[in-house]
Amino acid sequence: MTVQQHATTPTVLVYEDDPGAPLQENVPVRHPVPQLDTQPFPTAIAEAAPQPDSAGPGTPAFRYWVAADALSTGCQTWGPLVPTGTQWVPSVGRVLTVHLDEGVDLNAFYDRRGLKFFHQRVEGVDVFSGQSPEIVRHELGHAVLDALRPQLFNAAMHESDALHEAFGDISALLTALQLESLRITVLTQTQGRLEQSSRVSRLAEQLGWALRKVVPDAAEPDCLRNMSNHFFYRDPVQLPPLGPANMLTSEPHSFSRVFSGAFLKIVAGIFRQQDSQDQTALAEAARIAGQLLVDAVVAAPVVSGYYAQVAGHMIAADQRRNGGKYGPSLRSAFTRHGILSLGAATSLTATEVTRRGAAVAEATPGGSDEEGLTTVTVPGMAYGIKGPLTLYAPGEARRFGIAGSDPAGGSVRPADPEQVATSYLEDLLRRGRVEIPAEHRTDVAVVDDSPTRLKTHEIARRETTEGLALVRRCFD
Ligand SMILES: [Zn+2]
Repeated sequence: MTVQQHATTPTVLVYEDDPGAPLQENVPVRHPVPQLDTQPFPTAIAEAAPQPDSAGPGTPAFRYWVAADALSTGCQTWGPLVPTGTQWVPSVGRVLTVHLDEGVDLNAFYDRRGLKFFHQRVEGVDVFSGQSPEIVRHELGHAVLDALRPQLFNAAMHESDALHEAFGDISALLTALQLESLRITVLTQTQGRLEQSSRVSRLAEQLGWALRKVVPDAAEPDCLRNMSNHFFYRDPVQLPPLGPANMLTSEPHSFSRVFSGAFLKIVAGIFRQQDSQDQTALAEAARIAGQLLVDAVVAAPVVSGYYAQVAGHMIAADQRRNGGKYGPSLRSAFTRHGILSLGAATSLTATEVTRRGAAVAEATPGGSDEEGLTTVTVPGMAYGIKGPLTLYAPGEARRFGIAGSDPAGGSVRPADPEQVATSYLEDLLRRGRVEIPAEHRTDVAVVDDSPTRLKTHEIARRETTEGLALVRRCFD
């Protein structure tokens, strides 16, 4: 070994957030060789590790290190925020295994065993979903939230699915804000107004470009999703199951933008409340917002009107941790997006939060999948399914009697669990997302046999219930 090699820490070339759309590609930078087998969220890549420092864009070795660095920085972001003892759900095993290229698709998913990424050639550009750190950190976010709140996995409820998607996008945002170079970039881009569109508010520019080429209304104009938005809460039971990217629908990625939009404003608001507005303060603002979110998802009951409960628990967490210092930023963001009605936001006084605080402080992550959920049985015949079908509906009692905004004023009355679960099932079927095995179909079943449409759910027999049940396979 030469003296020079000895003195240099090995590095790898990586993208920090996204490859960028064609003609707007981001420049790779050097990071230290990433460590994957770290607590509390150890990960591993199934493919063999190439030599560090070995490759640039367009090679498998480069893609490996981009994904490894995205995982490592993502786990470093969440690790310090989660309660002691948090671990992957049992089916994952000790280590979350990541597969970088599982074939042709413009997608990625978490399936309670690991993370799977794909590739597709679009107009001469090879788009690898695992080569976008934002997509890797989004999928990692699903695994982290599953570890904190496994009850959300099978819940038949639009808002818990959408919260999962928002958490994924927030995972990408918070990790990007742990990187000093991106903090400096975004502060320059937005002149300190973090709620504006920026490199960190825009998720997955390259994949968004590819999707637009394939289906023009499938992504926003300059990325896949943008957290800088004004989507206002509606009870998702009332929304159409599908629609173009500029419209709010009950589809979880679409509906997630209501929550992630509020979250970006919260980071912006907490940042403004710091003593100075420099890049160090931005890192701290991101950390504070992430901590409140983790506290809230562990404690919030899984009920209909779930967004409002998570929001209320973030306000409660701030009361407990910070004496309510960031209450103004939280209340402002949640009411601007309609997640809390004005009445709900003002009802969460310090006294009210303290009165209910003990149960919140005692909440622990994990637990059984169905804890707190209730089962609803619907006749399968109406959906082309043989026999009764069990759905895992939201069930726990509300801790805070709060709800989202009715656009006409006042609060929305959350739908009852049976209506929530039935609406959820119908929307999944209308989107073609449910695998119904031939033996469970009636002659008139509406079956989506598109080979490219990912089935996030299946109709299956379960030992714990009579007949058939709707169960999740993955989050994409
Ligand atoms: Zn997702």
